[in-house]
Amino acid sequence: MGMLDGKRILITGVLTDASLAFAVARRAQAEGAEIVLSGAGRGLSLTRRTARKLDPAPDVLEIDVTSDDQLAAAGSVLGERWGRLDGLLHAIGFAPPVCLGQGMFAAGWDDVTVALQVSAYSLKALVGAFRPLLEEAGAGGGASVVGLDFDATVAWPLYDWMGVAKAALESLARYLARDLGPRGVRVNLVAAGPVRTMAAKSIPGFPEFEETWRQRAPLGWNVHDADVVARACIALMSDWLPMTTGEVLHVDGGVHAVGS
Ligand code: NAP
Repeated sequence: MGMLDGKRILITGVLTDASLAFAVARRAQAEGAEIVLSGAGRGLSLTRRTARKLDPAPDVLEIDVTSDDQLAAAGSVLGERWGRLDGLLHAIGFAPPVCLGQGMFAAGWDDVTVALQVSAYSLKALVGAFRPLLEEAGAGGGASVVGLDFDATVAWPLYDWMGVAKAALESLARYLARDLGPRGVRVNLVAAGPVRTMAAKSIPGFPEFEETWRQRAPLGWNVHDADVVARACIALMSDWLPMTTGEVLHVDGGVHAVGS
């Protein structure tokens, strides 16, 4: 029996087979879930190609989280298809290049607002679009929203406005957990250590993160292993953590717990 038998889950953020969300999708299917993916903009065709590497190949919806129309359309499609949504993975992040690696004074509001909208506010936009479906599952035993995070309790080298966006994401997850808990919907984040994905390539300080993890992770850390992150997401989407919400679960080899 799989941990997600009978569950219906929407997984955003699959771009390539290196995406953290791809590892979640593969694990979710292996644990018995029925999944649908979403992709956005120019990456949509890449998401469709990557979906064919899954078995069975899931359908792909177009959801740019900055488009209210696309969010509403996706809500209708899944409403007709499933009538409820047991799980939702938010695996979305983007900041204009000036927001990373140039200190806090280079980017202006026009750029910062994009980083905050796509990387933090998008959790509210996404959850809002599927709220009736999540609440339907919540009434029937529980629904789980999981987002991917990078520990935002400290300032990192070069992460700059993306770090601020992640701090907003962490706070937002707690507020959504407050609002949706009474409807049976849990909202949690997984704060992952560095894994080499497309998004990671656009982070100028990524090699420094890798070095930090190499030196400090009590459990060690493999930057090519997205599956350790995926397994934590699956656990949060399963029925095994029914009283956990508003949590940031660190899947970082223990780096967050040690000083140096
Ligand atoms: P990834 O494979 O590049 O995935 C990032 C995803 O965000 C892509 O699918 C991208 O799609 C999507 N996205 C960007 N703008 C979007 C928009 N407007 N609407 C909808 N989707 C949009 O990289 P990843 O590393 O797996 O990142 C997934 C999440 O994990 C991010 O939140 C990231 O911050 C987080 N995370 C990553 C690491 C790491 O080391 N890799 C560590 C901790 C947390 P398009 O490119 O098509 O726009």
